[in-house]
Amino acid sequence: MANMASGIPVYYRENAYEKLNTYLAENKASKIFILVDSNTHNFCLTPFLTKLTTEIPLEVIEMEAGESNKNLETCSQIWNVLSELGADRKSLILNLGGGVVTDLGGFVASCFKRGIPYINIPTTLLGMVDASVGGKTGVDLGNLKNQIGVINNSQMVLVDSVFLKSLPANEMRSGLAEILKHGLIQDEKYWNKLSALSTLNLEDLDEIIEESVNIKAEIVSRDPEEKNLRKTLNYGHTLGHAIESYFLTHPSKSKLLHGEAVAIGMILATFISSELKEFPRKKMQQITQTILDMYGKVEFEVQDVKEIMDLMKYDKKNEFGKINFVLLKDIGKPLIDCLVPNEVIHKAFDFYGKA
Ligand code: NAD
Repeated sequence: MANMASGIPVYYRENAYEKLNTYLAENKASKIFILVDSNTHNFCLTPFLTKLTTEIPLEVIEMEAGESNKNLETCSQIWNVLSELGADRKSLILNLGGGVVTDLGGFVASCFKRGIPYINIPTTLLGMVDASVGGKTGVDLGNLKNQIGVINNSQMVLVDSVFLKSLPANEMRSGLAEILKHGLIQDEKYWNKLSALSTLNLEDLDEIIEESVNIKAEIVSRDPEEKNLRKTLNYGHTLGHAIESYFLTHPSKSKLLHGEAVAIGMILATFISSELKEFPRKKMQQITQTILDMYGKVEFEVQDVKEIMDLMKYDKKNEFGKINFVLLKDIGKPLIDCLVPNEVIHKAFDFYGKA
């Protein structure tokens, strides 16, 4: 089935390859460029190529894996390779990879010769339920995440959970945090279903991925430019991003992936919601326990909390110097642009430490 809610179709499993082959037959690209990173080259490219039936010439472009390569230098290298390989305005880019490849590949396509079409084929859980849908493309500028970019939709998104078989467990957990977030901000029934899962198997996953894509696509279609509703997708991210950056810049701390930091951010935001917005305390405790069972606990020293709070000043969602939180009145009832006093944030870290 295709999801058209965001204006771009999302296709799943075998149907996805049929739609892609039909698209390729109908749109007659001059050349196809498949962008991979070193890992998706190893694990995903061969199974993907066996599904293509096109006669159009193909080239594979590989970038180094990892967020540290999501920058303008990599784009510049790819633009040069595209030019050398004779890419023109009728060329098509297929992004086969996680959020780094789809964000960067989408941006590369959007700027090359003022824009050529691209298609996302996400290979991480985070990519499937979040990064590949919604048209946000871009790269980092030094330490500033996603500072450069444009909003420009892919022609379609192809989701096949078979790629997840080679994905490391911590990367799976990172993507799961965004799925949990979709339940918390949008749908209590969905949250209850997710919190009942003790382990994730691939069959549950297909259904969950589709449900999460639908939630994200629906939100994006109602507010593509993030004026209001789309902000709710930042639930847990204000503190989550600051925690992620803090751990990245302190090598003595354990390494936290994006979703692992967002999971902590969601516990803190739910506690803050119960302090300031009458979010039911019992549900807050249940959410905390569910997330801790899935992610374990990270230790924060007093100095850590102080520095994390300083880092929040740089959150890209801030406006006019104010730190904006998304909070919840209840599960599925988000509130945007909430100002939170510092002492309540400290209290939330205390709560997390003792939970
Ligand atoms: P990623 O692309 O770096 O992938 C994580 C790791 O898994 C990488 O080492 C990658 O090479 C490897 N990998 C990918 N697929 C694999 C597979 N099938 N088997 C084995 N290894 C595989 O990171 P991610 O978590 O997918 O995405 C994070 C990025 O997404 C960030 O840059 C973030 O800013 C961006 N993002 C964008 C949006 C958006 O709306 N555009 C939303 C959320 C996140």
